[in-house]
Amino acid sequence: MALANGQFHAHAPAQPPAPVPRRIVLLGATGSIGRSTVDLLERDPEGFSVSAVAGGRDVEALARVARAVRAEFAAIRDESAYAALKAALAGTNIQVAAGREAIIEAALRDADLVVSAIVGAAGVEPTYAALAAGRDVALANKECLVCAGVPFMRKAAEMGVQLLPMDSEHNAIFQALGGEDPSRIERMIVTASGGPFRTWSKERIAEASVEEALNHPNWAMGPKITVDSAGMMNKGLELIEAHHLFGIPAEKLEVVVHPQSIVHGLVAFSDGSVTAGIAVPDMRTPIAHCLGYPDRLTTPTPRLDLAKIATLTFEAPDFERFPALKLALEVLRDGGGLPTVLNAANEIAVEAFLDRRMSFDGIARHVAEACEAALRDGTANAPATVEDALAVDHIVRERSRSALAGRAASGMLLQ
Ligand code: NDP
Ligand code: MG
Repeated sequence: MALANGQFHAHAPAQPPAPVPRRIVLLGATGSIGRSTVDLLERDPEGFSVSAVAGGRDVEALARVARAVRAEFAAIRDESAYAALKAALAGTNIQVAAGREAIIEAALRDADLVVSAIVGAAGVEPTYAALAAGRDVALANKECLVCAGVPFMRKAAEMGVQLLPMDSEHNAIFQALGGEDPSRIERMIVTASGGPFRTWSKERIAEASVEEALNHPNWAMGPKITVDSAGMMNKGLELIEAHHLFGIPAEKLEVVVHPQSIVHGLVAFSDGSVTAGIAVPDMRTPIAHCLGYPDRLTTPTPRLDLAKIATLTFEAPDFERFPALKLALEVLRDGGGLPTVLNAANEIAVEAFLDRRMSFDGIARHVAEACEAALRDGTANAPATVEDALAVDHIVRERSRSALAGRAASGMLLQ
């Protein structure tokens, strides 16, 4: 419904309903988000067709997914996996390719929506290629915006494409915004479960094992984001993500810890009204919202039963026990290129922790050191383009790897 001032009513769909079948490209098809997406696509074979699926190294899983969704093209990042993928898809019409270019080719296949669910900065190039080619993108990969938020948002605006938030908090906020005037927003609140260490002491968190960090109370996710969640770095990355996605300054962004993960995100307006996105914690809900947008799919997810849940609790985040969240907030406030540095150093440190080469509290310490070093030598200047951001990403990764390798030579667990 059009209003007198030319704005559209908040509840009117932003676009006409999507054509059926909707053509989908699924990047990161074998991961946690990828599998949940495939689950929804498989339930609606009339509603969707899949132009391409892409994965990292897991040949068997990628071949299984490609067959399940009858993809036209399957791309794997690991170049040496070409023959194995070709063999695994023998007898089908599915085209196969391997390597960096193959992932970009997948991103550029004809599609109404590209689902960006590769983990880490590895998702930047293909996701940006899709945006630059004018494709609408559903963004699960938050590292794209942490690494290269300014160029990403600029390109999305320039191409007039939709960047739909698939991350549950951002998806909730997107729905809670309902197309309202951004100047009337006072605060945007992202909730955090608090992860497995929410009630742990600083000393206990410092010596957490890989198994303990991977034991998330509410969400089953890939290993990198699960470790990020345990230290609340994930929430820091999400604040940076929200800043870019919604054009909201750092001082209007807040985190509240909400262990039940039922309320995912809230928007507070100038008249005191607060709208919230609420749902059971199941990623298929935000994924379905993006796949169907502006229409709605019907999902098999459990339905919200507030009387059964009975109690929703909220608490302030503890920056002392979760220094990664504090650091990410500082980096966001500083702006410039520090988020790119933080993201790259974090990926290397999390990798080292998962390989049992680094202590849990070593992750945030390493990231802080990488940011300080970048401030000293100019690496932290704001990247103007995606290429600049990827160059900084590359430098910081190399530096982090050699710093950690140097220390690991002592044979001690990195602190
Ligand atoms: P997973 O680790 O489960 O999956 C990662 C996917 O990326 C896999 O398909 C993997 O392939 C692929 N991949 C890894 N490296 C490369 C590469 N270099 N090139 C191409 N593909 C690659 O991660 P998640 O699904 O948990 O997370 C994906 C993204 O979504 C992350 O950015 C995360 O922060 C975000 N997200 C995830 C949520 C969740 O619930 N899981 C919630 C909100 C956001 P392979 O299997 O072959 O290694
Ligand atoms: Mg999230």
